[in-house]
Amino acid sequence: MSDRPSTAILDRLSAIVGPSGLVTGEELRSRPAAWTRPAEPCAALALVRPRDTEETSRVMTACAEASVTIVPRGGATGLVDGILCAPDQITLSTERMTTIEPADPLAMTMVAGSGATIEAVQDAARNAGLFFPLDLGARGSATVGGTISTNAGGLRVLRYGMMRDIVLGLEAVLADGTVVSSMRPLIKNNTGLDLKQLFLGTEGTLGIVTRAVLRLRPEPVGYATALVGCPGVDEGARLLRAAQAAFQGRVSSFEGLWPDFYRLMTKPGRATPPLKPDYAFYAIIEMECLPEETDRFVDVLDRLMGEGTVLDAALASSEDQRQAMWRIRDRVENMNADGLVRAFDVSVPLDRMDGYVRGALARLNAIPDCRAVVYGHIGDNNLHWNTTRLDAAGNAAIDAAIYEPLAELKGSVSAEHGIGLEKRGKLPLSRSPAELATMRLVKRALDPDNRLNPGKIF
Ligand SMILES: Cc1cc2nc3c(=O)[nH]c(=O)nc-3n(C[C@H](O)[C@H](O)[C@H](O)COP(=O)(O)OP(=O)(O)OC[C@H]3O[C@@H](n4cnc5c(N)ncnc54)[C@H](O)[C@@H]3O)c2cc1C
Repeated sequence: MSDRPSTAILDRLSAIVGPSGLVTGEELRSRPAAWTRPAEPCAALALVRPRDTEETSRVMTACAEASVTIVPRGGATGLVDGILCAPDQITLSTERMTTIEPADPLAMTMVAGSGATIEAVQDAARNAGLFFPLDLGARGSATVGGTISTNAGGLRVLRYGMMRDIVLGLEAVLADGTVVSSMRPLIKNNTGLDLKQLFLGTEGTLGIVTRAVLRLRPEPVGYATALVGCPGVDEGARLLRAAQAAFQGRVSSFEGLWPDFYRLMTKPGRATPPLKPDYAFYAIIEMECLPEETDRFVDVLDRLMGEGTVLDAALASSEDQRQAMWRIRDRVENMNADGLVRAFDVSVPLDRMDGYVRGALARLNAIPDCRAVVYGHIGDNNLHWNTTRLDAAGNAAIDAAIYEPLAELKGSVSAEHGIGLEKRGKLPLSRSPAELATMRLVKRALDPDNRLNPGKIF
C-alpha cells in the first residue's frame, strides 16, 4: 500500500471510532505481536478499537472500500499465531466492547460484548448466583470473542462442552460490513442453517464477533478433587468411567499427567508432591458433588485400589488443598523455566492414547538433545506436549514424532487451540481434501476478496 491510501484509511477509521479508538506508532509497537512472540511488536499499520457492532460494521465497510485486510484481535492469548499481522494490515481489537448485560436468572443466559474477558463473565455470573462454565488458564485476558473464534475448551469440557456448546446466539460483522445478528437466547432453534456455527472455531476468517448470548448453569454445589497414581493411562480411563457411573456424569475434569510432567511440576520450590514420583500415570479427577457425597468417591477409589486400577490417591480435604493440587496441573510457566518452550495440542481417542504416547515418546527420546513432557485434558481426548526448541531439523523431527501418527489414529492436529498460522501445514493430516475444499468454498462465499484474517487456517 502506498503512503497516501494508508493515510486516507487511517483518517477515515479515526472519523468512525474517534481519535482514541485508533492506535498507531509507539503505542501500537508496545503491544506484542502474539502470546507466543512476547518480544516482537505488533507489526500492523494501525489498531482500530470500535465501541460496538455498528462502528465495527462501518470499519469493515471502510476497509473493504480501501482494499485493506483486517486481523481481529481479542485478548491476544491464542497459541497458534492467529493474530499475527503484516505491516499493511489493520488489526481490529474488541477491547472497547466489554459490556456485560445483567444475567437473566430464569432463562439462565447472559449477553456479553466480545471484548469482555472470561474472568469478567465468570464473576458476573457468580454475582447473579449462576455459573459460567468455560474456564482456562488465560481467563484473565482471553475474551468472549476470542474463545468463540477458537472454540476454546479448557478445564470443564467433560461436563459442559466447549465454547460451541455454551454460545446460544451471537452477532457478527462480515468482511463487507454486513451485520449478521443471531442473538436468540434459545436452546432449540431448528430454522435452517445454524449461522452462529460459521463463527465458532473459524478464527476470525469469516466475520468479527461483536456480542454473544451465553448459556449459564447452576453453581456447582461443591467439589471432590483427588490426585491419583495409576499403572497407566488405560487404568486411568477405567477410573474415569467408574467415577462417571457413580456420580451420574458429574465428573467435571479429568486431567492426565505423565511422570516427567509430574516430576517437573513438583520439583523442590514448586508444588509439594502429594504422591510419590514414580507412578506410570497420574490424574487429577474432580467432580461436582455435595460434601456428604465424598464418601462415595472414597468408596470408588477403594474399590479400584483393591483391583489394582488405582495405586495411590490423595483427596483434597480443603479448598486450599484443592487449589494446591490444581497448581500441579496449571503452572505451565514451570515448563518454560525448564526450557520446554514448544507447546503442542493434539487429540487422540482415549483407547489409543497409551500406544500413541509410548510411540511418540520413543521417537522424541531418540532425537538428540530433545526433552519432552506430556499431559492434558485426557477425558476430552486432548494431549498437550511441551518440548525443547532445537534447530530446524530437530524441530521437524519433533513435529513428525508428535503429528505423523495422528492421521492413522483418527486423531487431530489441534484439539482446542486452532490452526492459525502455526499449524496450516499440518491441517491435511486431520482433514480430507474434500473437507478442505468445502472449507474454502465457505470462505470464498463469505469473504470473496479474502479480507478477513487472510492466510490463517488455509
Ligand atoms: C496460559 C494459557 C492457557 C490456555 N489454556 C487454554 C485451554 O485450556 N483451552 C483452550 O482452548 N485454549 C487455551 N489457551 C489458548 C487461548 O487462551 C484461547 O485460544 C483463547 O480462546 C483466545 O482468546 P483471545 O481473546 O486471547 O483471542 P486472541 O488470541 O486475541 O485471538 C484468537 C483468534 O481469534 C480471532 N479473534 C479474536 N477475537 C475475535 C472476534 N471478536 N471475532 C472474530 N475473530 C476473533 C483472532 O483473529 C485469532 O485468530 C490458553 C492460552 C494461554 C496463554
